[in-house]
Amino acid sequence: MTSPSPEIAVVGAGIAGASAAYRLSELGLKSRVYEAEGHPGGRMASAVIDHASFDHGAQFFTTRGREFRHVVDAAAADGAVKVWTHGFDAPPDGYERWRGVPDMTALAAWLLSEAGVTVHFDQRVDDLKHLDTSAIVLTPPVPVSLALAQDSNLEPPKKLLTRLRSVEYKRTIAVLFSLEEHPGGVPSHGGMQFVDDPDLAFISDNAAKGVSEAPAVTIHLSNDASLALWNQPDHELTEYAIKHLKAKVGPVVPLGSMVQRWRYAGPVQVLEESAFVWGDRPVIVMAGEAFNGPKVEGAFNSGRHAAEKIAELVS
Ligand SMILES: Cc1cc2nc3c(=O)[nH]c(=O)nc-3n(C[C@H](O)[C@H](O)[C@H](O)COP(=O)(O)OP(=O)(O)OC[C@H]3O[C@@H](n4cnc5c(N)ncnc54)[C@H](O)[C@@H]3O)c2cc1C
Repeated sequence: MTSPSPEIAVVGAGIAGASAAYRLSELGLKSRVYEAEGHPGGRMASAVIDHASFDHGAQFFTTRGREFRHVVDAAAADGAVKVWTHGFDAPPDGYERWRGVPDMTALAAWLLSEAGVTVHFDQRVDDLKHLDTSAIVLTPPVPVSLALAQDSNLEPPKKLLTRLRSVEYKRTIAVLFSLEEHPGGVPSHGGMQFVDDPDLAFISDNAAKGVSEAPAVTIHLSNDASLALWNQPDHELTEYAIKHLKAKVGPVVPLGSMVQRWRYAGPVQVLEESAFVWGDRPVIVMAGEAFNGPKVEGAFNSGRHAAEKIAELVS
């Protein structure tokens, strides 16, 4: 019988998977990454409509912890990320909001490139046992990772299973518009964040942000509106979005549009552990933004901790 490959398999090339691969390489461990889509970034996503470019998942990230900041500074020195703005409101609150260059996928792409790993794009893993490895880092949203583990007959022990099943996610509907002209009523940095608005959560003018040369606006409906309108047809969602966009920024003339329903926009509650570990040959480490801390930085930290747990187990 042959031994499983010593390379660690990482499922997902979003920020958590890219961070895990990067940390594994820093620790001298080899990994290979499997990504269902044809590009890295996951929910740090980009899109193109005709000549217009969009960030359509996460719009920015903050750096609160030392480890993430250290990596972001290195990525900035290579031109993969830059400070977008120091606040969306006037006057700005002074905290740096970072963006990817040319778009939000760039940070995951940079981490993977620095790690020097092979990334198998367009490869959706449907059975973990086929990965032929002794260690796996799982980074899709918790319900997706859990279903994958269960379908592979590698279910976590009951105590972990119960906790994983309790993780719920907020939804976000994103509507993208390429426009005839740049919208007038948007601040010069291009971002408008709405904290308690019943209809919209965010408007991003991708041209003002520096992502698009052509006029291109991303609209995130609020979590409440996204839940209420989830099953509406796309044309109703675009009508809803354009009505509220006009109310916020003034007249606009849309050329093209796209609707993206993010079923797993973010966890309602975050598990306090940095990652969950179970099994033996393969040992499975489940990580991502539902662990330890949410959003881009939480996902980065969880991926990093997953790599460190694996290093402890294999040393
Ligand atoms: C609309 C929206 C707005 C957001 N805004 C912000 C924001 O402004 N700031 C912020 O900090 N955070 C924001 N977030 C949250 C942030 O995007 C996430 O916390 C973070 O990107 C999650 O990273 P992750 O690596 O844990 O998961 P993901 O990015 O989801 O990565 C998981 C990867 O696994 C892949 N995958 C799934 N199943 C399989 C499989 N079977 N085989 C192989 N690959 C698979 C997926 O394609 C994906 O690339 C936002 C999220 C959304 C959706």
